[in-house]
Amino acid sequence: MSAAALAALIRERQPCVVLTGAGVSTESGIPDFRSPTGIWVEVDPFEVASIRAFRHDPACVWSFYRQRIDLLRQAEPNAAHHAIAELERRGLVEAVVTQNIDTLHSRAGSRDVVEVHGSVRSAQCPGCLWSEPADDVLAQLETRELPSCPHCGEVLKPGVVLFGELLPAGALERATQLARGSRLLLVVGSSLEVWPVAGLPLEAQAFAIVNRGPTTLDDRALLKVDAGAGDTLSAVLESLAS
Ligand SMILES: [Zn+2]
Repeated sequence: MSAAALAALIRERQPCVVLTGAGVSTESGIPDFRSPTGIWVEVDPFEVASIRAFRHDPACVWSFYRQRIDLLRQAEPNAAHHAIAELERRGLVEAVVTQNIDTLHSRAGSRDVVEVHGSVRSAQCPGCLWSEPADDVLAQLETRELPSCPHCGEVLKPGVVLFGELLPAGALERATQLARGSRLLLVVGSSLEVWPVAGLPLEAQAFAIVNRGPTTLDDRALLKVDAGAGDTLSAVLESLAS
């Protein structure tokens, strides 16, 4: 019933932009961050994933990210990623703004993906801004603690936004423009706790939310579906086809 209502909203309120968080990838076996089984229960993000940690002890940050990159690259897109890509192919979704760094939207076939927290696709050189593909970073880490820039020798930084860093300005501006231009922002798998992304729904004309558990904006959504992303979006596709 709620999937049918969501399908109707997507059909009626074009253009529609999708905003995704960790909840869209948990069905791919990727743990989220803040739930009781999340990553930050076991490790302190400020010790392994902050810009401060990177400056003081980059080897510690890279030992954490090397495992993350390995895990994320083994994961496969799930029904939710595939459904979002299919909605884009059908012209019903303009773009996907994601907080996720796992690249699963692109791998599922989504074409216009705005990765506001960066991704594990590559690592960046803080010196000359060279972008080193993840394969080459992992190859370097086979034999040494820290990957370095092949051009200027500086220690590479993971291609993701670390705690204490600003979001990439271009990506955030594009995300804000997409939200403002949309008649429906569809939030999937985010509890909308991490700013500034959590403020994007308020930039849109209206928004709907698919998320297990409460979010900070439930009472302002046109529709809230408290269920898994894969099941819900698969049902939305079926409803749109009928
Ligand atoms: Zn460099």
